[in-house]
Formats: sequence, structure tokens, C-alpha cells
Amino acid sequence: MSEIDVPESHPRYQSLLTRHRIEAGVEKGITSKQGLIAEGRGEAFDYLLGERTIDSADRAERAAAALLLLAERPVLSVNGNVAALVPGEMIDLAAAVDADIEVNLFNRTEERMDAIAAHLREHGAEEAGVQIKGLTADARIPGLDHERAKVDADGIGAADVVLVPLEDGDRAEALAAMGKSEIVIDLNPLSRSARAAAVPIIDNIIRAVPNVTAHARELRGASREELEAIVGEFVGAEALEAAETTIRSGDLD
Ligand code: ATP
Ligand code: MG
Repeated sequence: MSEIDVPESHPRYQSLLTRHRIEAGVEKGITSKQGLIAEGRGEAFDYLLGERTIDSADRAERAAAALLLLAERPVLSVNGNVAALVPGEMIDLAAAVDADIEVNLFNRTEERMDAIAAHLREHGAEEAGVQIKGLTADARIPGLDHERAKVDADGIGAADVVLVPLEDGDRAEALAAMGKSEIVIDLNPLSRSARAAAVPIIDNIIRAVPNVTAHARELRGASREELEAIVGEFVGAEALEAAETTIRSGDLD
């Protein structure tokens, strides 16, 4: 038995574990109630994808790893759902690609910002040498209203590559408009967020983040030319189309 009272062999184990983590996140004050709705929406797409990482998503995860390794100032954005679902995995990824983490909330309150930063520290951020940003909020994303536009000047404000999982379309588009290379993780290939990304990853964040980390570790010795070739060969529109075709075909094998 693990975190939840269900054996890992249960056919719905992953989805039950995910729900449990989101629920615990709400109870702990790190996930908003809106986050429960976002989770349900994501689960429906995951069901139709067969709850697996399809080949095109694995290629996107490899391209994301290459892009993060090439970045001068990579930042991984964390919201309430991300913190509830993959806190330790985000820290591992940040350590593997030498990125900072920035807490960035749609419904920003000081309490939730602090709770998420504390949650990430509990999961070993300091020991891994990963900086947690987002609390200074001394820069703004142009084109968004006040609260949602807040970022750290030396975090997302100065980043060249940003990983924004489970983001809403507006913010994803505004960040892309700032000229940042954006990696989006979202189970919905029709989402405006996924469409705004240079690298859209259509996969459950629970599977996606550890797989980006695994690719990053494998690519650590690669030359800039090799990494640039991996990024250059990746076509976002093809990844979106492959995921949409899988979902619409309804073929779960
Ligand atoms: P837009 O269409 O403008 O992008 P939205 O209406 O999709 O915005 P939300 O519903 O807040 O905005 O977005 C939540 C997104 O997160 C959904 O697209 C959902 O598929 C995705 N999502 C939820 N849980 C997960 C998860 N575990 N892994 C990956 N994506 C997820
Ligand atoms: Mg969306």
C-alpha cells in the first residue's frame, strides 16, 4: 500500500492517486478549488489517450529537455496543481537542467504562495540547490491584469525558456508574446496554452516531468549542435495533431 489505500495493481491506481494528491493539496491550502475542476478536465483527456505517454509526447519531452539544457536562464513555473501533483519531480527536473522554480498563481494570495514555497522546501528544494522564486513579484507580464501578471524580475521576467505546466491560455499567450521559448504541459491538445507553446507536451504531468528529467540526464553530455538539432527537428503542430488524432480515434490499444 502507498499514499492511498488502494493497491498499485488497481486498474485506476494512477488516477485515484492523482485525485488524492489534488484533494490533499486543497486541504493543505496549496491548491485552489478551481484546481479540482482543472484536474477533472485533464483526466477526461488522459482517459481518451489511454493514460499513457504517446510517441509524439515522448518526442516533445525529449525536445523540451534539449531546450532546457540549451537555455541561459530556464525557469519552471509551479502553480497549485503542479505543487500538489509533482513537487519532488519538479525539483529533480530543476536540478537536472540547472533551472530555478517560480511559484506563479492564477488566484494569487500570500497564504498560498507561502504554502507552496514551504511545500517545495519540504520536498528537498534546498538540498537539491534549487532556488524558489515568485515571492518578490517585482516585474509584470505585459497585457495581463495586475495579480495574474506578477512575476520575479530575475525569475520568469528574465527567463529565456519557461516551462509552464497546466497554464491558462491567456498567460501562455502573453509569455510567448514576450519572446520566451515556452514549453507547455497540458492534456488538452486544443487548449490555447498548448497552441501557444514552442514545445507542447500533451501528456499527464505525472508522467511528463519524470520523463523530461530522464531525457535531460541522458542528453547531458550532448553537444550544443546535437541539442539544437533535436529542438530544430521537433514540430509542435505535428505533436498537437498526433494527440488530437489519438483522442478522436478512440482506439485505446
Ligand atoms: P485555455 O483553453 O485558454 O488554455 P483552459 O480553460 O484550458 O484554458 P484550465 O481549464 O484552467 O484552462 O486549464 C487546465 C488545463 O490543465 C486543462 O487543459 C487540462 O487538460 C490540463 N490538465 C489538468 N490536469 C492535468 C494533468 N494532470 N496533466 C496535464 N494537464 C492537465
Ligand atoms: Mg488550457
